[in-house]
Amino acid sequence: MARLVIGNWKMNGTPALLRAFAAAALREPPRCEAALCVPHPLLAAARTAFGTTALRWGAQDCSAELDGAFTGEVSARLLADLDTRYVILGHPERRLGHGETDGQIAAKAQRALAVGLTPVVCIGETAEERDGEQTSAVLRRQLLQLARLLGRRLAAVVLAYAPPWAASRHGCGDCVAPGLLEDTFAAIAELLAFHAGLSAASVRVIYGGSVDARNAGALLSLPGIGGVLVGAASLRPADFIEICKAAARCGDPPVRAASLWPVIATSARE
Ligand code: PEP
Repeated sequence: MARLVIGNWKMNGTPALLRAFAAAALREPPRCEAALCVPHPLLAAARTAFGTTALRWGAQDCSAELDGAFTGEVSARLLADLDTRYVILGHPERRLGHGETDGQIAAKAQRALAVGLTPVVCIGETAEERDGEQTSAVLRRQLLQLARLLGRRLAAVVLAYAPPWAASRHGCGDCVAPGLLEDTFAAIAELLAFHAGLSAASVRVIYGGSVDARNAGALLSLPGIGGVLVGAASLRPADFIEICKAAARCGDPPVRAASLWPVIATSARE
C-alpha cells in the first residue's frame, strides 16, 4: 500500500484553484496516492481538471440512503458516477457540528463501499475526552460501530485519526506529538485486531491535524502511518506537492511489529 495524501478543502476552493493544482501536478506528478476532497459542486470540475493528472478527487460526505426524499443530501452513487474515489465520513466538523453518530457514519461507510467509493472515516477524541483519559474508550466506541456493520470489509476503509484538538483551525495548530501518535496508532491496531480480526498491515490508517510541508516528512516516517489527511495546507498547490514528495520519499509504510497498549487491549476484550 503506497502512502496516501488526502486533502480536505472543506468549504473552500474554486474551479481556478482546481486548475492550478492540475498544472502543479503535471509539472511535478505526485509519486504517492494523492487526492483532494472538494465541495460537491466542484466534483465535475475536478474530474475535468485532474483527469489527465496523477491526482484523484473525493467528496466530504454522502448519504447512507441510496436515493429518495432526502432534501439536501448527496447520494454516494452520484459521487461514484463522477468517478469520485474517496469520501470523507465522520469528520470532526460533522460529528461535533452536525451531531453525526457512530452508527450513522458506519451506515454511510457501508453505502459508500457498496457503490465502489473508498470511505475515509475520521476517528479521534476531543480535547475534553483526551484530558479525561477517555481516548481509548472513544476510539473503541468509534471502531466498534464500523466493525459491527462492516466486519472484515473494514479493510477497504481508510481510517483517519484526526482528533479535533490537533486541527489547524479549531484546535491548537500543533500536530499530535510523535510519541503519542505512535501509541495511538498501536492502540488502533489492537482494536482492529480484536474487533475485526484485521492485522495492522491490512488497514490503512492515516493521521490528520495541522499537517504541512514542514512536518509531513517526520510524521510520515512514523511506524504504522499510512498517509496524512491535510486541511489548510491542501489549499496551497506548492505545499500539497511538497507533502506528496515527502510521502513518496517514505515509500510504503513499514509493517508495525506486534504492539501492546494494555489499557486498550483489556477493555477491547470486554
Ligand atoms: C482537517 O480538519 O481535516 C484537517 C486535517 O485540518 P488541518 O490540516 O487544517 O489541521
